[in-house]
Amino acid sequence: MDEDDANYPNFLRKAEKRLAQAQRKLSKRKKGSHNREKQRLRVAVLHEKIANQRRDFLHKKARNLVDKYDAIGIEDISVKAMSKRKKGGKFSFGKSVADNGWNMFTNILEYKLAWQGKQLVKIDKWYPSSQLCHVCGFQNDATKDLSVREWDCPKCGSHHNRDKNAAINIREEARRISAGHNV
Ligand SMILES: [Zn+2]
Repeated sequence: MDEDDANYPNFLRKAEKRLAQAQRKLSKRKKGSHNREKQRLRVAVLHEKIANQRRDFLHKKARNLVDKYDAIGIEDISVKAMSKRKKGGKFSFGKSVADNGWNMFTNILEYKLAWQGKQLVKIDKWYPSSQLCHVCGFQNDATKDLSVREWDCPKCGSHHNRDKNAAINIREEARRISAGHNV
């Protein structure tokens, strides 16, 4: 999935910044004042607009993926785990989508796939995709450290890029799981 980076649109990022500013402004307005009410409405309108744009973006993103692939494997990880991973560097796909409705995204993805008779394969959040060498299967605990971006397998000597290796493991695991479902 690595070439399908979320590419979270700039206009959304900017709109979110504007919303945050508007919210800060609101919090400074005196309670019960006319200005506060005006600002409250401004925030509500901005909020609604961003929610719609975000939903459109997620639908478009899901549509692209569903048109391109017959099955999609995702790591079924919590938003908390995603944001943790974010600090380790620029992991993937997850970053922006996680910040902005990962659950919504996976739901959209799942039903769009289902419409076309395709499958969303959820991979257990405990599956150690970043630790396993995709060549020989050795589990390298040293990669639990999120700052490890590249590593050499102690067993077979293969050199790995953390995210690429994890993506391959997720793909293989998704294949394994969907084979079990006879898809
Ligand atoms: Zn290995």
